[in-house]
Amino acid sequence: MRIDRIDLYHVAMPLKSPWRTAYGEDAAIESVLCRLTSGSIDAWGEAAPFAAPCYSPEWAGGLFALCRDWLGPALLGQDIASGQDLQKRLAMFKGNLFAKSLFDMAWWGLEAKRKGKPLAQLIGGECRLVPVGADFGVMDNLDDLLAAVGKAAEDKFRRIKLKFRPGWDVEMVKAVRKAFPDVTIHVDCNAGYKIADLHVFKEIDDLGLAMIEQPLRYDDLIDHATLQKAIKTPVCLDESITSLEHVRAALKLGACKYINVKPGRVGGLTIARQIHDLCHAAHIPCWVGGMLESATGASYCLSLASLDNFTYPADIFPSERFYEEDLSDPPLLLARDKDGCPAIRVPEKLSKPHPDRLQKLTRQSATLQHSATV
Ligand code: MG
Repeated sequence: MRIDRIDLYHVAMPLKSPWRTAYGEDAAIESVLCRLTSGSIDAWGEAAPFAAPCYSPEWAGGLFALCRDWLGPALLGQDIASGQDLQKRLAMFKGNLFAKSLFDMAWWGLEAKRKGKPLAQLIGGECRLVPVGADFGVMDNLDDLLAAVGKAAEDKFRRIKLKFRPGWDVEMVKAVRKAFPDVTIHVDCNAGYKIADLHVFKEIDDLGLAMIEQPLRYDDLIDHATLQKAIKTPVCLDESITSLEHVRAALKLGACKYINVKPGRVGGLTIARQIHDLCHAAHIPCWVGGMLESATGASYCLSLASLDNFTYPADIFPSERFYEEDLSDPPLLLARDKDGCPAIRVPEKLSKPHPDRLQKLTRQSATLQHSATV
């Protein structure tokens, strides 16, 4: 499939309310969308590394420039046979996995269109309902959190994730467990602790948590292995998972019993699928997380989540959770699975940006066109 044209858009999508993380507060999600054109077909991809290089070393403004000046020109006019072929052509550029994922996902979108198949089916999954979980960040007080968890439990969410930070940790999760003894709960530390904090994890080891997500720094695989050997609660790696090689190392070290795959963070669907297959063979269950992308990026996350070994409910949200109006159409809608639990259906067709909304939210754009097609 020859890439004849690449259109890039750096957008800022205003959130209903600011997104608070360990890294700061975002009023809008900054994302980059690309449209790849091959002959008469086109497809969209999206990568949302956020506005500042805090979640990862990448950031939306830098990603846009890199894709315009380096990655885009390396692909333009090239005949790209597979996701693996695309990855090989970009391999000379170090790191920059979100940027690579932008083109990798759009290539898969093109391939799905060319073959006339839903993307999920093309990669070995099916257009089924994907169970999704509820997530709660740091709140002003415990009463507010208990009320929110109570509502999510009533809503039959299959699992509840609690952000876990120094100052909002052991007492918080003990209070939630006491109030809701039977609900599936896990905590997400976003790399906020060190192995010297082992006592913190021992204190919550008897609470029957489903997992402890990313307790230590993203590059502390050895310390994660030490922690996993010292506690019975499964450790889940999230920020640490940036490549197939890191997964291989983590499994060999015994650093985790779960893996959270964000297709953007690992360089795209091609690598995310390889990670899925490796973990499947090693009996390590996985789940999919997103980056608050518009429905374009989220529809790729959902397609990935349709694979067999993504067994824990995903961190993928209906559009209305964060946005008054999704940049892309169709938006993601919350559905119910056969047990009445919240789920989102894997789309037959990937979402794409609505032209008017794209124009309104674009900060900068660029077009690269293969000279033979001008
Ligand atoms: Mg996480």
